[in-house]
Amino acid sequence: MALKTSDAQLRWWYSRYNRAYFRGRLGMPYQIRFGNASDGNIAETTFLGIGKTSEVVDILISRRVQWSLRLSLAALLHEMIHVARPRAEHGEGFARERRRLFREGAFDGLI
Ligand SMILES: [Zn+2]
Repeated sequence: MALKTSDAQLRWWYSRYNRAYFRGRLGMPYQIRFGNASDGNIAETTFLGIGKTSEVVDILISRRVQWSLRLSLAALLHEMIHVARPRAEHGEGFARERRRLFREGAFDGLI
């Protein structure tokens, strides 16, 4: 039986990815947790206000992917791009950051 990924593991991976791929510049969210995401969403990042990364309040990863560490971490990296680029939505700034992470190997072993 596979062990479910825990909220504590998500927080640990956030710190690791932050150091490895964001020079430790991202603020630590108030919460990183599994929960019930809105229909069709794998994950959601809620900002208190759009601006500094310290304003990130909550990263939620859907319980639907909690069974898979790889899917959970791919979703976490996606949300970390939003934390790094709060105004980018899924536009060009987001795509550029995603390409950078891909080149630097962040998704190796995940997808
Ligand atoms: Zn997104």
